[in-house]
Amino acid sequence: MSTNDITVGFVGLGHMGGPMAANLVKAGYVVKGFDLVPAALEQARRDGITVVDSAALAATDADVVVTMLPSGKHVLDLYEGGLLTAARQGTLFVDSSTIDVADARAAHELAEQAGHRSVDAPVSGGVMGAAAGTLAFMVGGADEDFEAARPLLEVMGRKVVHCGGPGVGQAAKICNNMILGVSMIAISEAFVLGEKLGLSNQALFDVASNASGQCWALTTNCPVPGPVPASPANNDYQPGFAAALMDKDLGLAANALRANGVDAELGMRAAELYRRFHETGHGGEDFSAIIRDIRDRSNGETR
Ligand code: NAD
Repeated sequence: MSTNDITVGFVGLGHMGGPMAANLVKAGYVVKGFDLVPAALEQARRDGITVVDSAALAATDADVVVTMLPSGKHVLDLYEGGLLTAARQGTLFVDSSTIDVADARAAHELAEQAGHRSVDAPVSGGVMGAAAGTLAFMVGGADEDFEAARPLLEVMGRKVVHCGGPGVGQAAKICNNMILGVSMIAISEAFVLGEKLGLSNQALFDVASNASGQCWALTTNCPVPGPVPASPANNDYQPGFAAALMDKDLGLAANALRANGVDAELGMRAAELYRRFHETGHGGEDFSAIIRDIRDRSNGETR
């Protein structure tokens, strides 16, 4: 089957969904899209997406329905509010939103009860990855549903990993981002301690990046300006990966930690620190800007 014969309904054409849907059009898929925001629909039209008047119309006669929405509530509300019933039996539902593992599992169940197939397929790689078609997809679902989704995901992303059964793609996403949040805080605390001890940022970077402190938060997204020229710290902490999104993902991780009785003191604390950082007006900064909060508090100032 050529891509021209496959119709994709795409619901949620925001910062991520818009460029992802545009890449499907470029690859030859017929894409019918819907969003609540008129500006998103205008951009979608310019990108060759057939704009329809409701989410249900995007799902009608589609072979695949992709959702890219803010939260689990949005996904479940749409699934229960007519998206599933509008699709013909056996349609493949791909939810790429980042949502609670429990919500993802509920979405799978709803899709199955309605006679459909589904995968959870959250992404990392951000808006730039969405535009460039270089996202990483973490996929949960049955083997055959993963195989059915794979060609589409490979258009929108560069790395596609089948992580396991329903909800396990979301599990991979929140576990990874919990590592990232905790490691960014640890790296930032180390730089601030180094500064207090008279150790230059560059010297600490040269040592830690070649030693056991090495990690992505240090070598790619270094929270101090200088050692890694492309890191957001060199551009007044313009994101990058916004602190608001880190707050969201750590909140999902904290829910899963609580629900599963995991004694993760650092994961829970990281969620609290990013929540405070977001709530004090820093959600639009790159998540590495948390070093400024740690530095200010260490100097007796609150931000
Ligand atoms: P966004 O807010 O830009 O886009 C979400 C879109 O969904 C909006 O345009 C909104 O109007 C639309 N929407 C909401 N309810 C709708 C409904 N009932 N019908 C149709 N459209 C509806 O958000 P985003 O940055 O594109 O993120 C989308 C998802 O991807 C989120 O779950 C986010 O956590 C995840 N994510 C984002 C990034 C990033 O860097 N932005 C990276 C990885 C994952």
